Amino acid sequence: MKIMVSACLAGENCKYNGGNNRSEKVLKLMAENEVLTVCPEQMGGLPTPRVPSEICNGVVTAKDGRIVDAQFRTGAAECLVIAKIEQPDLIVLQSRSPSCGVKQRYDGTFSGKLVDRAGVTAQLLMENGFCCVDVEDLVEVHNDVLIRKLSSGEICLLKDFLYEAIFIPEGVEPPPRDIVERPELRIYYEYFGRSEADLCLVAEADGHVVGAVWTRIMSDYGHVDDETPSFAISLIPEYRGKGIGTRLMRNILSLLKEQGFKQASLAVQKANYAVRMYKNVGFEIVDENDEEFIMLCSL
Ligand code: SF4
Repeated sequence: MKIMVSACLAGENCKYNGGNNRSEKVLKLMAENEVLTVCPEQMGGLPTPRVPSEICNGVVTAKDGRIVDAQFRTGAAECLVIAKIEQPDLIVLQSRSPSCGVKQRYDGTFSGKLVDRAGVTAQLLMENGFCCVDVEDLVEVHNDVLIRKLSSGEICLLKDFLYEAIFIPEGVEPPPRDIVERPELRIYYEYFGRSEADLCLVAEADGHVVGAVWTRIMSDYGHVDDETPSFAISLIPEYRGKGIGTRLMRNILSLLKEQGFKQASLAVQKANYAVRMYKNVGFEIVDENDEEFIMLCSL
């Protein structure tokens, strides 16, 4: 995979204060992929160290009041030229930067407050169709599949992946897509993101989200108690059987552990081929009814 990264993440001392944002995740990417680094602020002609800047009313302004908009936009345009020539499959950028932030940037008041807007370089690259991800949302890249956190603008995807998660035995007619609007299924996605147990990772391949795994504490079929998040996972059919589900599961289990959860649960139809995959990542059967196993994984 060819990946473009913010140079400060690769350990280059191009940050406004002369330091860097060296990231172990990015160093790992560099060891396993073809990686090119860019620092749009330096490419726009700004020195290092430099006065920090934020975007105030659409104009990039240094903390000392000087307007540096032209330099930021020149740097962004330079990055776009490189991206168009090199055609990276993925661009990993430093979070919250007025140049590189993908999901958020500082709000222009130099008070540490954030807004859900991209920095100028990230914005330009995304407008031109490049796949950009904040380094903080990157989980891993393996075999040309990116695993990353779901962004708040993508929560609507959960309905699609919930539909894909419905197990349909061979020879049975699939249910209508609006089945996901039923109350017993709405609990999987409604108001998602409000609780610390609401975690979701997605797998992206060939420019599309091809799979999702998410957890929340909910009264679903896999519910065991009010401290244990339960799981939903699905992949679109063409991407099943390639190990992507296992990677999604392992990564979200790590994330749950980091957040302090002690165990996770799920319910799965006994005939579902995924039972073996769940066992492989550490789930054990703790209960069953006629149709389903209830499985638990200690973290
Ligand atoms: S412009 Fe981007 S690459 Fe350069 S220091 Fe800032 S965040 Fe890092």
